[in-house]
Amino acid sequence: MATVQELRDKLRKPLERELLTGCSNRVVAGGVEKLLEHLGKPFPQVREALRGYAAMDEDERGERLRAALALLSDAPRPSTERSTGARSAPPVTLDPTARLQPGDEVSKLDLGPGSVKKLHALGLRTVRDVLHHYPRKHEDRRALPNLQDVQDGEKLTVQGVVVSKTRRTPKPGMLILEAVLQDAWGQKVRCTWFSQPWVEKQLREGARLIVSGRAKRFGRTLQLGVEYFETEDEGKDSLSINRIVGVYDSKDGISQAFLRRAVQQCLARTDLGDYLTAPSRARYALTDLADALSGIHFPTDEDHLTRAMARLRFDEYLFLELRVLLQGEEGVLLGKRFSASEQDMSTFEASLPFRFTGAQKRVLLEIADDMRSERQMARLVQGDVGSGKTAVAACALYLAARDGYQGALMAPTEILARQHFANLQGYLYPLGVRLGLLIGAMTGKQKAEMQRAIASGEIDVVIGTQALIQESVTFNNLGLAVVDEEHRFGVMQRRKLLQSRPDVLVMSATPIPRSLALTAYGDLELSIIDELPPGRTPIETKLLADTHRAQAYGFVMTQIREGRQAYVVASLIDESETLTELMAASALAENLRGLLPEARIALLHGKMSAAEKEDVMARFRAREFDLLVSTTVIEVGVDVPNSTVMVIENAERFGLAQLHQLRGRVGRGSLKSYCILIAGDHSKKTRQRLKVIEGNTDGFVIAEADLKLRGPGEIRGTRQSGLPDLKLGDIISDVEVIERARELAKAMLKSDPQLAHPRLNALKSELQERAAQVAYREVI
Ligand code: ADP
Ligand code: MG
Repeated sequence: MATVQELRDKLRKPLERELLTGCSNRVVAGGVEKLLEHLGKPFPQVREALRGYAAMDEDERGERLRAALALLSDAPRPSTERSTGARSAPPVTLDPTARLQPGDEVSKLDLGPGSVKKLHALGLRTVRDVLHHYPRKHEDRRALPNLQDVQDGEKLTVQGVVVSKTRRTPKPGMLILEAVLQDAWGQKVRCTWFSQPWVEKQLREGARLIVSGRAKRFGRTLQLGVEYFETEDEGKDSLSINRIVGVYDSKDGISQAFLRRAVQQCLARTDLGDYLTAPSRARYALTDLADALSGIHFPTDEDHLTRAMARLRFDEYLFLELRVLLQGEEGVLLGKRFSASEQDMSTFEASLPFRFTGAQKRVLLEIADDMRSERQMARLVQGDVGSGKTAVAACALYLAARDGYQGALMAPTEILARQHFANLQGYLYPLGVRLGLLIGAMTGKQKAEMQRAIASGEIDVVIGTQALIQESVTFNNLGLAVVDEEHRFGVMQRRKLLQSRPDVLVMSATPIPRSLALTAYGDLELSIIDELPPGRTPIETKLLADTHRAQAYGFVMTQIREGRQAYVVASLIDESETLTELMAASALAENLRGLLPEARIALLHGKMSAAEKEDVMARFRAREFDLLVSTTVIEVGVDVPNSTVMVIENAERFGLAQLHQLRGRVGRGSLKSYCILIAGDHSKKTRQRLKVIEGNTDGFVIAEADLKLRGPGEIRGTRQSGLPDLKLGDIISDVEVIERARELAKAMLKSDPQLAHPRLNALKSELQERAAQVAYREVI
């Protein structure tokens, strides 16, 4: 005879599954009511709650299910055998049916040994953390392909069993792993991994894998270059197949299947109160929190995912707004006061080989106004690549130096710092400004000497990387700090630089709508350089299929013969492994050395040391090389005006905004420049997307188009937006969401400025939770 406890478990599981899979009443044959007939006798209240289930709509079903599950967890627990053990401490056992609260530790989850450690390794400490660890992307695995119909170049996901495997080392240092996978219909596909030795142990014969990649046909054999795979050995009722599946950011040894089970359990066991009231949700057409969280992790269909994203994205902005509004009252800080005279500005401009554009002038006047006032300047200068931000910043630094203050310019990478240093020398040295460079690659002795010179005031303007704030740098008299490419720095880092209250200028090429800039950079005012220097011939961009690679490189050779230089960008092949990015670039360099024997080819990649990178760049600048093959490390800021061609291989793997940034590395002088996008994927969708780059040169237009073409399942992370608050939010497309969230935040604070009402406790704790995480992400 089964105990009540066992019966309860038997009933709970299918009900939880039913809730998770969208209340379709298909979880058991005959439906939920049939299930209750069999198992529900001891639980009359549960039966009552679910009476008439088949006739309800999905929303109502969800509500009733949650009520029923709550009832099941409240049922009195049968006395356990162990309770006789008199005084001994209660044994630490997990009750996999106990209800959880969002704030509960993950140790309350029942996921097997080692699970707590795994979750902690991902920074997930509470049930809430797990639930808000959103997938990085979603894959549609509802229909697995018929392998016979797969076209060459198609991207696909296959589920199957490893029937054989081989390893080859065609060259020393190169490892190719192959596994033949057989799917449920007995069809086979040969999967290959390049230089990923760690994969080998997972390719046991008989192992079940889910594999995604791009297909190649060789007659009747189908081959798959694996971009992403999962092992499926963690249980049969997989959450990983036959549905739209979320793919999470993870770490080595923490499988996707494990994360999905963790999330599933949190969803099923947690009492998710909603921190937004029903009227607020109705007003902004938002689904409830439980639906949103199940939808982002386990969407039943695209609609579910879309409404989940809409809700969770709204929340991100709402909390961001609340945070900014709540701390907005701190007041304006006292900064430095400069004379910033017209005279000095003219002197600076007169020393340039060009005149400022109208936009540069306007922005400079805004900056000069700020500098003259005694408020601390906090200004964001936004302008497309090559719009002349650095020249403007140089002028501001000159103004500071004129008043006897020091200036600092902080760049995101050493290559950029060195480049800024060279450019600023050109602008400022003739005007008597003493410049210094401080980067991590310098020897201890060099650094110490530079630090001394900064502290004593012998240096007027220092240019550096994060070394400027990480090393023990003391300024004699810091007056102006310029931060290039803001999004690579955290707010905390910024704050550190600001301890001595210098005026601050931030330069960014990321197009941000004004409404958001006001929110996100709360404290920063915005200046926009919306004009390119004259005489730039627009970069001519051409999209070619990879079948025309020879033609593309033929053109590159004609430019090289004319004395020009070229970049070739290799794309990341595997989305999780930087090592493969390196492999891709070196393989490409090898290939090009064969194809273009006349050209002098260099390779630049992210695994090189800073010194090695700088050496390659210096020699490229000195024209010792004609062609630079690189990974995306050249994305930001490289400035070699003699480079007139850029080829981007597998352009489809880049976001449009990123392609635009890459393209900005050519066309930096008066020479006519070209960008060739090589598409390894011939689908219509890809063509349509890349055509946007071919036809547009305006970064803002491109960013917008990019978003319109994206599906709802694609999530962009903080890396893109640069705002640690946003995991889902996309600052370009979300202007309206931002405005609505701001409206609600304001309304909330208007009626209750401190959010003091107990009704708002859930909202407040979520706000605190998020604020803490932002701070955490900024520090790491
Ligand atoms: P950004 O920092 O916005 O990418 P830079 O300040 O580095 O742009 O300028 C890009 C290039 O354009 C540099 O070579 C710079 O010398 C040149 N430049 C800047 N302003 C002007 C201008 N008003 N007229 C002509 N060339 C300019
Ligand atoms: Mg720049």
